[in-house]
Amino acid sequence: MPELPEVETVCRTLRERLQGVKILQVRVIEGRLRQPVAADFAARLEGRTVAAVTRRGKYIVAGLEGGWTWVSHLGMSGKLTFRERDASLEKHDHLVFTLGEGGELRYHDPRRFGLCVALPSRELDAWPPFARLGMDPLDRRFTGDYLYPFLHRSRRSLRDLLLDQQIVCGLGNIYVNEVLSRIGVRPTRRCHRVSRALSAELVREIRALLREAIRWRGSSVSDYRDGNDDRGGFQWRLRVYDRKGAPCSDCGTLIKRIGLGNRGVFYCPRCQR
Ligand SMILES: [Zn+2]
Repeated sequence: MPELPEVETVCRTLRERLQGVKILQVRVIEGRLRQPVAADFAARLEGRTVAAVTRRGKYIVAGLEGGWTWVSHLGMSGKLTFRERDASLEKHDHLVFTLGEGGELRYHDPRRFGLCVALPSRELDAWPPFARLGMDPLDRRFTGDYLYPFLHRSRRSLRDLLLDQQIVCGLGNIYVNEVLSRIGVRPTRRCHRVSRALSAELVREIRALLREAIRWRGSSVSDYRDGNDDRGGFQWRLRVYDRKGAPCSDCGTLIKRIGLGNRGVFYCPRCQR
């Protein structure tokens, strides 16, 4: 599932080739995504030029000229990739955007858990999924002092709280496991047992980890690709995620996986307490 570094990488590749480009035509081949593609989706986009591509949490936000915004979420397995015009359609290519500069952008999603909506730009902040989003971890207002009150009053596990998009948006299972490995804390640690100092360290490491992962263009642990259909490079630098039974790079102890909720957590039993 694409997380913040992957979505940011997709946004950057889209920005390079989409900004200032007109969307000539939108073909909806399969509209049954997490939420069905609205009947007027194509009409809202067609003929409009993309002014800017930005990111909110794990959402891709393309501001269009004329007061409309196209918002996408890649769900579990979504990809937005550029193709030559009239390249043959692949299975799971659900939407095709014909671009004024000659090529096409395709929305491809085997599990169909993604999202494509058009919204009036002035209603963006009030759109329920955005109204509920917590702080972006790369926002300078995301600090130890922001996070600490949430930790202090919670009896949840650190893993669960950091996945809560209403507190901090953009983290998923990969980067939560990784950041906890970096600060030497187990994913099962109860939030209220985290000190103010550790909260500040956690925030610093979240930001450092995400920036590093963006530099490596994200992690391709399953089918993630950026807008140019290229894989990321950060999957080779993961310390614990999906490394059950492999030796810890610091101490050689074998990485452990335990079930927590409906997803596993990964940690070094020796380095993480
Ligand atoms: Zn270790």
